[in-house]
Amino acid sequence: MIPSRFAYHAPRTVEDAIALLQSHGDEAKLLAGGHSLLPLMKLRLTRLAHLIDIGRIEGLASIRQSESSIHIGAMTTHSELAESELLAQRQPLLPRAAIQIGDVQVRNSGTLGGSLAHADPAADLVPVLLALECELRICGPAGERSLAAGDFFTSMFTTALAPDEILLEVRVPLAPANSRCSYEKVPHRASHLAVVGVAVQIEFTADGRCDQARLALTGLAPVPYRALAAEASLRGKTLSAETIEAAAQQVTDGVEPLSDLYAPADYRLHLARVTTARALASLAPL
Ligand SMILES: Cc1cc2nc3c(=O)[nH]c(=O)nc-3n(C[C@H](O)[C@H](O)[C@H](O)COP(=O)(O)OP(=O)(O)OC[C@H]3O[C@@H](n4cnc5c(N)ncnc54)[C@H](O)[C@@H]3O)c2cc1C
Repeated sequence: MIPSRFAYHAPRTVEDAIALLQSHGDEAKLLAGGHSLLPLMKLRLTRLAHLIDIGRIEGLASIRQSESSIHIGAMTTHSELAESELLAQRQPLLPRAAIQIGDVQVRNSGTLGGSLAHADPAADLVPVLLALECELRICGPAGERSLAAGDFFTSMFTTALAPDEILLEVRVPLAPANSRCSYEKVPHRASHLAVVGVAVQIEFTADGRCDQARLALTGLAPVPYRALAAEASLRGKTLSAETIEAAAQQVTDGVEPLSDLYAPADYRLHLARVTTARALASLAPL
């Protein structure tokens, strides 16, 4: 449980961090909360000669509102997401998912940026970003670029980040008026990572029908995904027992489920449908 020897760097600016990534190439990685990277290093599944701690770079851990979005710095911890008054009022789906991550220690150290860059197929915040159609602000040697969340997660534990790029910020659209949201998951007993997790935001019409439904699932497939068929099935409908059941059946359309000793494929498919039905039922008008 002791990692191989590494040099520790603590740059004060994004530019310095990028320069370090460039000069050390494959032998270096960024360190955020350390809750995914350090276990890999301790188990010697990853050996790195250089760790670049981005925790001392100012301005990477804030939550602020602009006209149409909330801007969240990559070093914002899961606890800060869970406890943010601004998010609770303007985009409650994020705190609802963040409070269900791991335990207090994990939430106090783990960061939004670390979780997204790690791209665990069972991560809780990834489906939230997909459902909300967030934008990610990234910086590399050639300057800044933005990427839609749907283009960021490319395969299991892999993202569109180049090795010398840093994720700076996530832009989260404000929750539309007359919308409600839910995050439901079946946690793995030990880690609390999602065996299956469902993020839902529904915008309702004045007479209580679904105007726009957004559903994204984690834990089921190598990459969390939007359940587009289920979303379409809800459009224009009220959340009755029948429409909920029909949508829940469709969330697994076209998905090749992950399978392991803890949760075989059939069980995961079943959980996805049950969890989706639960999330939708919690949003049905009283
Ligand atoms: C016991 C335990 C239980 C957990 N339970 C859950 C759970 O229930 N749900 C859940 O979603 N997660 C869970 N996690 C994972 C946790 O959320 C991690 O904190 C998270 O996945 C990684 O965040 P970090 O800040 O610790 O990143 P680190 O471990 O520091 O880094 C992870 C990776 O991201 C890269 N990276 C970090 N920041 C950036 C950045 N800004 N730009 C580019 N690359 C970056 C690093 O180089 C590294 O490759 C758990 C972890 C543990 C140890």
